Amino acid sequence: MNAPRIGVLALQGDTREHLAALREAGAEPMPVRRRSELDTVDGLVIPGGESTTMSHLLLDFDMLEPLRGRLAEGMPAYGACAGMILLASEILDAGARGRQALPLRAIDMTVRRNAFGRQVDSFEGDVAFAGFDVPVRAVFIRAPWVERAGDDVRVLASAAGHAVAVRQGPMLATAFHPEVTGDRRVHQLFVDIVTGEA
Ligand code: GLN
Repeated sequence: MNAPRIGVLALQGDTREHLAALREAGAEPMPVRRRSELDTVDGLVIPGGESTTMSHLLLDFDMLEPLRGRLAEGMPAYGACAGMILLASEILDAGARGRQALPLRAIDMTVRRNAFGRQVDSFEGDVAFAGFDVPVRAVFIRAPWVERAGDDVRVLASAAGHAVAVRQGPMLATAFHPEVTGDRRVHQLFVDIVTGEA
């Protein structure tokens, strides 16, 4: 397969690092801001940001149902942090008032937003990752964790007793931000999923 065309949802959040990481991992990346762009990509990265804001921008730009549709058809997707939250089938958010994040229901899992607590907003650590010889440096920023993973969901990494990286078929999600570390293995894994090599 030629370099796969992989979109990075660019309504809100950190897209630049994902575009660079995907290019280094051998993909042809492009920002996705509208439905016509969504229709042209072989896979999609949903970056970190604010899952509530991103959900409502998807609604405002008439992209929520088209994106759910492409995911239901099996378009590969990788969600990091807020992106992991959006890919879930159920979102727990005890403290939320007002607008809620809307699940895309691509991965059979329940995630908890801001799960690591308010005192420890951000932290990093080395995390073992299934299939990688050397642990990944995981950067968590107001990160979620997976509270329930369905039978078809494979846990790839855990921290604090909870899954923080999962895969279900062509869907990949991490609670942490590999795009900020220079380690391209997670993006490489996603590119390989898109090309059918992983
Ligand atoms: N706390 C954010 C949310 O709930 C996610 C933070 C992030 O993506 N770094 O959407």
